[in-house]
Amino acid sequence: MTGRRVVRVPGANGTWWPRLVHGPVPPRPGPQWRLVRVTTAGICGSDLRGLAQAPVHGAADPAGVVPGHEVVGVLADGPGSGERVVVHPLVTCAARDEPLCASCRNGRFGQCDSFWQPTVRWSKSLGFSTDLGGGWADWVWAHRDMVRTLPPDLPDRTAVLAEPLSVAISGVRSVRDHAGDDVVIVGGGTLGLLTVVAVASVLPGSRCFAVVRHDFQADAARALGAEPVRTPADLPGARPRGAEVLIDGPGLAVDAGGTSSSLIAAMRAVRAGGRVLTLGNPDDCTDLSPLWLKGLTLLGHLEHAAEPSPRPPESADSLDEAVRLLGAAPDLGRLLVTHTFATDDVARALAVARARRTHRAIKVILQPPS
Ligand SMILES: [Zn+2]
Ligand SMILES: [Zn+2]
Repeated sequence: MTGRRVVRVPGANGTWWPRLVHGPVPPRPGPQWRLVRVTTAGICGSDLRGLAQAPVHGAADPAGVVPGHEVVGVLADGPGSGERVVVHPLVTCAARDEPLCASCRNGRFGQCDSFWQPTVRWSKSLGFSTDLGGGWADWVWAHRDMVRTLPPDLPDRTAVLAEPLSVAISGVRSVRDHAGDDVVIVGGGTLGLLTVVAVASVLPGSRCFAVVRHDFQADAARALGAEPVRTPADLPGARPRGAEVLIDGPGLAVDAGGTSSSLIAAMRAVRAGGRVLTLGNPDDCTDLSPLWLKGLTLLGHLEHAAEPSPRPPESADSLDEAVRLLGAAPDLGRLLVTHTFATDDVARALAVARARRTHRAIKVILQPPS
């Protein structure tokens, strides 16, 4: 079996480039692994960062990594062959056919013990692996534990949002005690906008504000039920103290931008004594003064999780819950997926994803030509 795949290849000065190659599909990793024919894959901010940086976290060899962890496809062999699925990207204990570690038993999949080994077989996640493939390809391997069947009437364009929505759901579930509180989300990209969806479901009665940079992001936030603002000082009733630092802002802020400046904006926007949840994986922060000035609590979160006691009709697993919510909103992809490219056209797709303002881009997706 052969197919197309986009791989990371080394460039000058420690940079990396995507290159489309044709070649054999890597061998089946084990008897429980299923071959998935990719039909749609998303481009995530972490893919763009991963292409720019070396090494790739958790990959034994960063060369040859196939990016793409937002994957929708069709089971190509074994039981259920022909079913449309979305793939859980994390290769946790269950997918390794190993006894569950304490993190996996507690449903905290982002902290699975196997990710902390000096060398991680298959890497920690699809999209960062050489031998499992990734979404930016014709084929990918997924353990049977990693596939979720899709409702037949859920189009790929919406189903491809399940992975980032699962990240948002699992994060917002960790701050359920803020139900009814005002929430401010910083970041108008896919993750920020899907956090609006997660807040509406997980925190009933909460008003949601979104700090966004661009008009088209404000329009999308409004369509999802959030009130868009440009800076924390624009929040209703805000009393700025100095440089946009609010004393009486919302009780919960979510950093969905994943940069130093978005985290700072989140800390400035939240009220004194409030809580800040990081969903966007910021690497650094150049100003922590709002944290101690206002006595804030900073809460980190990584990727997907299962909740031990979900509230009916919620699903325990955050990816299952994302599929359930999208099943009730099958048109969401029309709002958030702004650009579609053939996998062969990955260079143009990445250029659009990197210049979001110019192209008014939210989610950019790749589809292998049929
Ligand atoms: Zn992602
Ligand atoms: Zn584990």
